[in-house]
Amino acid sequence: MTDARSMKAEFPAAKLFINGEFVDPGGGATIDVVDPSNGRVCYRAPCASAEDVERAVQAARAAFDQTKWPTMSAASRAKIVRRFGEKLLERREAIALVETHENGKLYRDALAEDVSAAAGALQYFASLADKLSGETLPVRGDFLTYTLREPLGVVAAIVPWNFPLSLTAWKLGPALAAGNTVVLKPSELTPASALMLAECARDAGIPAGVLNVIPGLGAVAGDALSRHLAVDHIAFTGSTRTARALLRASAESNLKTLSLELGGKSPQIILADAPLDEAVEACVWGIFSNKGEVCSAGSRLLIDRSIYHSFVERVAERASRIKVGDPRDPSTEMGPLVSSTQLDNAMGFVARAIEAGARLVVGGERDTAGANGAGFFLRPTVFADVRPGSELEQEEVFGPVLACMPFDSVDEAIASANGVRYGLAASVWTRDTARAHALARKIRAGVVWLNTYDQFDTAAPFGGYKQSGWGRDLSPAAFDSYTQKKCVWTRL
Ligand code: NAD
Repeated sequence: MTDARSMKAEFPAAKLFINGEFVDPGGGATIDVVDPSNGRVCYRAPCASAEDVERAVQAARAAFDQTKWPTMSAASRAKIVRRFGEKLLERREAIALVETHENGKLYRDALAEDVSAAAGALQYFASLADKLSGETLPVRGDFLTYTLREPLGVVAAIVPWNFPLSLTAWKLGPALAAGNTVVLKPSELTPASALMLAECARDAGIPAGVLNVIPGLGAVAGDALSRHLAVDHIAFTGSTRTARALLRASAESNLKTLSLELGGKSPQIILADAPLDEAVEACVWGIFSNKGEVCSAGSRLLIDRSIYHSFVERVAERASRIKVGDPRDPSTEMGPLVSSTQLDNAMGFVARAIEAGARLVVGGERDTAGANGAGFFLRPTVFADVRPGSELEQEEVFGPVLACMPFDSVDEAIASANGVRYGLAASVWTRDTARAHALARKIRAGVVWLNTYDQFDTAAPFGGYKQSGWGRDLSPAAFDSYTQKKCVWTRL
């Protein structure tokens, strides 16, 4: 693995990408992006105003209504989207390095799980573009009736900072391949990688206006997009709280449709006959990979009481050895949280969990060793005996904080797994495969992993039940969020 400490990050020009060109933001406002590993400003990003949103939406609208992008052959569109993926791959190291500065993500994770994964998603959806079709319908004999599968129009993609490019590509891939045009608003915490993505789009020949990228604040640019009458769909990944604001904005404007990938409080259920070595490892990395800033983080361990104490001890022991530090150092296992706000938020959860009677087994404090003192580092944290109904059992921390609870029967474990408002992911660990499959049916979550955790593939759908979301990213099912069916009747 390359030692990214010897590489120099090159940030993009602080300009918005509108109608195929890099332009200055109207008001000249900027956003200070802070490197969470040292607390220093690493980039001054452009900050879109409501007027910039207007320009970007008008560009996307015109590209949809007045150019051949939505009606050109799917194969031609596929070629351009595939090239977009290739351009991203060509620049993956430079973009991954910038991500380590914006987000604190490990360089190796930024490279593989974010930038390369984003390129893979673009190429996967490009390969499906010319497989989308309508159908001929068996109606009364004196009619020929068929459906056309058409793009929705202008899609506003509003995305978070934790996997800045792969989550974006999960939306851009199917949206563009199906012939929509897009205005992308990245998170205010990770605008630089999104602008580098825009450079790749330009270099790949994505036509002017088809993709517009406007970093900005959620309350300004995000809000203006969500209320805009010329936006047809919002493709959102982020918090359940913001999703409610988007739903209100849609209701109060033009009833634009929404696809929502939201939060989680995902359980891993460990039965007494589980393959314990693998389970310990998967439980540790299920919560501590990407510093717990993962929507599908396995943030709750539900453990059979007969193995509860030894299992918690093993997880805590491994957690205590995790090397926390510079995300560019190849030996680091966990980087800093994305921001001081996120660190304060996680520390607040820790304090309240102790107050609520949970037992802190390991961690629970900032890591200030050496150079870490200047950054937003939190030690991997494990709580045991978390009380049913308490905040730590119910609410998403979005940080490296694990909640462990014992159970006495499988029914109790399922009730506990399902007893939160979220339903994004879950796992079951047991050597009894029939039982594992039976339990998978009882869990109300969009993804269930059996004797494994956090497996992703472009071919497998991902999304939530309950308050974890609407619709599915990845797999051919993603096209359902970016296309609509038109029914055509002909009298014979
Ligand atoms: P967030 O909701 O605060 O922000 C997400 C995006 O919404 C950002 O671009 C932000 O600027 C924008 N935004 C904020 N307020 C807005 C408003 N009023 N109107 C329009 N846009 C607005 O979420 P976050 O902190 O960036 O991300 C963390 C959350 O995302 C967690 O809850 C996590 O679980 C969730 N997430 C879910 C998935 C998934 O696939 N299910 C993946 C990653 C993250």
